[in-house]
Order: sequence, then C-alpha cells, then structure tokens
Amino acid sequence: MEKLNIKQMKDWGMNIQSPVIIAGPCSAESEEQVMQTAEQLANKNVSIFRSGIWKPRTRPNTFEGVGSIGLKWLKKVKEKYGMPITVEIANKNHVENALKEGIDILWIGARTTVNPFAIQEIADVLQGVDIPVMVKNPINPDLELWIGAMERLNKAGITKLAAIHRGFSLYGESVFRNVPKWEIPVELKRRFPNLPIICDPSHISGNRELIPSVSQKSIDLDLSGLMIETHINPDEAWSDAKQQVTPTALFDILEHLVWRNTSADNEFFKNKLDELRENIDQIDDNLVDILGNRMKLVKQIAQYKKENDVTILQSNRWNDILETRIEKALGMDISEEFTAKLFQLIHQESINKQTEIMNEK
Ligand code: PEP
Ligand code: MN
Repeated sequence: MEKLNIKQMKDWGMNIQSPVIIAGPCSAESEEQVMQTAEQLANKNVSIFRSGIWKPRTRPNTFEGVGSIGLKWLKKVKEKYGMPITVEIANKNHVENALKEGIDILWIGARTTVNPFAIQEIADVLQGVDIPVMVKNPINPDLELWIGAMERLNKAGITKLAAIHRGFSLYGESVFRNVPKWEIPVELKRRFPNLPIICDPSHISGNRELIPSVSQKSIDLDLSGLMIETHINPDEAWSDAKQQVTPTALFDILEHLVWRNTSADNEFFKNKLDELRENIDQIDDNLVDILGNRMKLVKQIAQYKKENDVTILQSNRWNDILETRIEKALGMDISEEFTAKLFQLIHQESINKQTEIMNEK
C-alpha cells in the first residue's frame, strides 16, 4: 500500500469547512480589484481566498502578474475579512516572499508540477515549515508525475497536502480548455484515499458556461471541493477572462449544485444497494468465465491457422466483429465508443495470444 502522510483540511487549523470552496481572481490586478472581490466573497461559504500574483503564461508579452506587491493586498484581505489566503508559487524566491508576508496556503501550478527540479527546489525551502500546499496536476496526463510532486513535498515534512484537478492539455479540438480525464483523479483517490482532491472547473472549462456541469461531475465523483476563479468584472480581467465569474454568479452556481453523500444513513438504501451489488458481482464473475472461454477458442484458432500457414490478422473478419458488436450494443444503450474500446482490447489480447502460439517452436 502506497502512503502519503496526510493531515485533513479540517485539521489545517484554519476552520476550513467541507466541501471546500476556494474562490478569488485568476490574477490580482490592483488593490481595489482584490479588496472588492474579497468583500463580496467574505462571510459566505468561501473557505479560502485565491489569487495569482506570479502568472506562468504560455506566451510572453501577456500579463505576467503584479508580483510581490500583490502579497500585501492579500494580507489585507486576510486581516479585514478573515479568509485564509493562497497564492501560486513556482520557485524558491516565490516561496520565501510568500512565507515572509504570512500567506496561509501555497499552491503549485500545472506548469511547475511537471518539473521535478522545480518541485525539489520548492520542497527544499519548505523543509521544516508547517504550511499547507496544494498541488495541481501536471499539464500532461501523467499520474505518477503528480504523485511524485506530492511525495517530494511529503518527504520534506509537508503533511497538509491537497491535490487540485485542473484538467490536461490537449492539442486539437475539445469543448474543454483542459480535458478532465476523470479516470486520473479517480485512480489518485483509489491509491490515496485520504488525500483531499479539489476540482478546478475554471481551468478545465475555459469558459463560464461549462463550470456548473464540470463542478457537478466532480461532486458526483466524491472530490473534496471546488476552486473557482471569481472576479468583480470578469470580462475585463487581465487573464482568463472567459472562464471567470462574478461573486454573484459563483453563489448561483454553488446553490444549484447537488451535494451528495458517500452513503445514505438508511437501512432500506443499504439493503437495496447490497442486493444490486451482489447481482453485479455475479455478472462480473460470468463475464470473466465468458472471456476465459473466448480465449480457449482463440487458442484453437491459433493452432489451426498455424497448421495452415494463415495470417493472424484478417481485416475483414475484424471489421465484421466490430460492426456487429457495436450495432448490438447500441440497442442495449451501450455507446459505440465504449464497445469499440472494449473489443479493441479483447482483439489485441487475442492477437497477442495467437502470436505467442504461432511462434512456439
Ligand atoms: C491558475 O490557477 O490561475 C493557474 C495558472 O492554473 P494552472 O496551473 O492550473 O494553469
Ligand atoms: Mn487562471
């Protein structure tokens, strides 16, 4: 069993409520903008105030953040409204400045998580410092890299750790700015059940319209909270304008989400669920039997092809399999994408097995 030594967010000593809501602008632009946004977010259900002051931008000649001066504005937010504050840090210098100004929580951006040198440098300055750190996923869909970053921090003594799922870069067309690939946070949760994982629907969506559905999906997958970029005048924002929402819009989004429980405290629900799960167990058992029987036939076919010097791959046959299985599955409300993927896997395994048998001496 893999282990990270984790302290839950409710025990970070900052009165962080569950589900965790982190809000605030993509970038701090001026003292007024920061204070006005904070004023509208204060005394509601926002647990942490966020703002970027050093912005990692894809291209030069775009706004790269106000720099250290922004730390003073954030400090004012904390003093006036009592919300813990978080900023993105990407190197030793940022960390030292943030610690000096009393920033409560650090976060590491996607472009930094990809780089083990940068992460190690940050972990080294944090040695012996008891500060929470939230780690965004790397821009590429590499779960090990994400885990590696958290392990480096954990080894430096950081136990107040959380992961932030912000989606993954994609070259090509997508409705998302960063594709969510939900199977990755789901696998992270399976491997580290105690690690809080927060969803950042703003950077996944890249536009305001998608934020509610992405947020709901993360709740349905039992993630621990949301980080949503919030700006008093989103259309005029100096970075990520399209995906930011006003504080009023944020509260509207939060109000319409359905917050689910991991279980229901009633006997009828539990019994019914147990019964359905027993059926699923039975069907899965049959499924493995069926796959095993299919594989026995594959072995016979391999032997037969070998004796007659016939190739393993027969394109017409493979096309035929794919088409007929997809058609049947569609009639049972199973998507074409799923059936295609499933049979590609089965077919590849069949080819592997046949290759093995045909090349046996
Ligand atoms: C941000 O949160 O403003 C940010 C730069 O995020 P990411 O690292 O996810 O791109
Ligand atoms: Mn942003």
